[in-house]
Amino acid sequence: MKSVKRMTKQRKTILEILRNTTCHPTADWVYEQAKKAIPEISLGTIYRNLQVLIKDQEIQELKYGSSFSRFDGNARHHYHFVCRCCGQVMDLNMPVLSKLNQEAAYAVKGTVEDHRLEFYGICDRCQREKKN
Ligand code: ZN
Ligand code: MN
Repeated sequence: MKSVKRMTKQRKTILEILRNTTCHPTADWVYEQAKKAIPEISLGTIYRNLQVLIKDQEIQELKYGSSFSRFDGNARHHYHFVCRCCGQVMDLNMPVLSKLNQEAAYAVKGTVEDHRLEFYGICDRCQREKKN
């Protein structure tokens, strides 16, 4: 069970923002939303609290190469799809393939604890717009 930690109002607000969206936002987007509740909040505070929430495993950070990190209020293991056309990051409704860990462990002849998998392509909306 998770220990009951004292959360600042700021941290709670940031966590709520992330829990209430499926858009996997950037820190800037979280900042714009947080300002509505706490007008005096700074971007530095957003970044600091995001790091604490990552460490506490309340959220996860999604890194896409050189572009900005995105943040996910769902800390459970799940897969993402990134649209190359519009850039949106979507949750995939499919089971986590735990069998991959065994196969990778066999290949490295060591121990595999976890894996990350990202899918890239064109989302259905962009696909439809292309055809029109
Ligand atoms: Zn798209
Ligand atoms: Mn997600």
